[in-house]
Amino acid sequence: MNDYPMLIDGARVAGEDGHFDVVNPATGEAFAQCTAGSLAQLDQAVQAAQRAFSLWRYSSHAERSECLRRIASDIEGEAEALARLIVAEQGKPLSLAMGEVMGGVAWTRYAAEQEIPVQVIEENASQRVELHYKPLGVVASITPWNWPFMIAIWHIMPALRAGNCVISKPSSLTPLSTIRLVEIIARHVPKGVINVITGERGFGSAISSHTGIHKIVFTGSTATGQRVMQAAAGNLKRLTLELGGNDAAIVLPGTSVEAVVEDIFQAAFLNMGQTCAALKRLYVHESQAAAFAEALAVIARRQVVGDGLQADVTFGPVQNIEQLELVAELVADACVNGGRVVCGGERLERPGYFFPPTIVTGVSDGHRLVDEEQFGPVLPVIAYRDVEDVLRRANDSDMALGGSVWGSDVVAAEALASRLESGVAWVNCHAQIHPHTPFGGSKMSGFGVEFGLEGLLEFTGQQLLYVRKHQAV
Ligand code: NAD
Repeated sequence: MNDYPMLIDGARVAGEDGHFDVVNPATGEAFAQCTAGSLAQLDQAVQAAQRAFSLWRYSSHAERSECLRRIASDIEGEAEALARLIVAEQGKPLSLAMGEVMGGVAWTRYAAEQEIPVQVIEENASQRVELHYKPLGVVASITPWNWPFMIAIWHIMPALRAGNCVISKPSSLTPLSTIRLVEIIARHVPKGVINVITGERGFGSAISSHTGIHKIVFTGSTATGQRVMQAAAGNLKRLTLELGGNDAAIVLPGTSVEAVVEDIFQAAFLNMGQTCAALKRLYVHESQAAAFAEALAVIARRQVVGDGLQADVTFGPVQNIEQLELVAELVADACVNGGRVVCGGERLERPGYFFPPTIVTGVSDGHRLVDEEQFGPVLPVIAYRDVEDVLRRANDSDMALGGSVWGSDVVAAEALASRLESGVAWVNCHAQIHPHTPFGGSKMSGFGVEFGLEGLLEFTGQQLLYVRKHQAV
């Protein structure tokens, strides 16, 4: 058995379908092998989770909270090793990977302390009516490759806290840190409560259509989310779909470049731009568009691009070759259609999937770089003339995950932000995501939320308990 087995019913098991390579994006070379499970093993995992659910569903809130507290402590204790593994499989700089792990700890601790309410709707001498929130059963978590560890935590911890059993299916590009996470969780919960299965293809659709699974929490692209929704119809699975975004940011006329440019850069290039709620289209008034582009380019040129394990590196590789090629294609398309590369713009000639932070001007709505989700290290700076018109353009997208408005007049910025159609609207910031603030998209960016009480309740079903206090005579 290799060092990255699956976990089914409390046992570390080798996949029946061989193994597959996991590539380090900083080298382009395989550095580990992950086991590949079979569909029969998926069935075993579902059955194990169903068996475990028959008891775990009745575990007390105090017991589940305590499990999550212990899990958080173990993750914290192994933070550095986990972060190094994230760098190896995902590419981000080590400090960011440490942030990913410690963010995971914070989210786990938050879930541990959450309360699941019982809502008393009516109470009088003759009857009491209560609304209860109950676990759903077997929850499948399907995760992407950009924040593999933290997104797995976002899915798994509230599901467990609410009393569900979980099957985790990480992206085959970044399965390893999730395997380690599941091994940690398994130390603290009964066997079968948490399972992880890995494989290169086929599992996602098999999970989506599996009638033994009651809910899917999915984070990934809109196209895959649509496939999940279609396949999930068979047994009316509950769904949380956190899908793609193409977040617009509007900078109001007269905003100080100096005051906001660093925050805008970070929001756009967080995790090399591979963040669902990264700032992906920057609309700046025409009087300031050139100044903003140049100020962003100054910060971009300061980045030290390289292997995330090297101490001075601030900017890692793109996670995989397909994404790198998409980014290069979108920049090339912009260039042949009148765009101008202010900095960056070409893949670096060295091993690994390196593309420097890139600023492009001279593009507008209708260009692929503006209309499509780039999900990588390139930001279009788009000039606008009229605020009402730019609001229309910001909203003129099928995607509606997040959006932001920037300006020194906070009242005006807030008024405009409230007219964005996105699931989250930020003012003078972007991509602010916290354990206690519900987060989710609208339109084709998905539905359902994560985090806060609303996020926790997504892992429950409602039961109305209607009690007549006296028997009829
Ligand atoms: P993806 O859709 O290609 O893959 C996501 C997961 O789905 C992977 O585990 C993959 O193996 C699995 N999968 C593939 N085919 C499947 C199928 N037919 N049925 C079920 N599962 C299947 O996405 P990705 O390329 O890994 O991630 C990038 C995308 O994720 C971007 O669009 C990004 O915006 C989005 N994303 C969204 C959020 C959010 O919270 N809204 C967060 C992170 C990433």
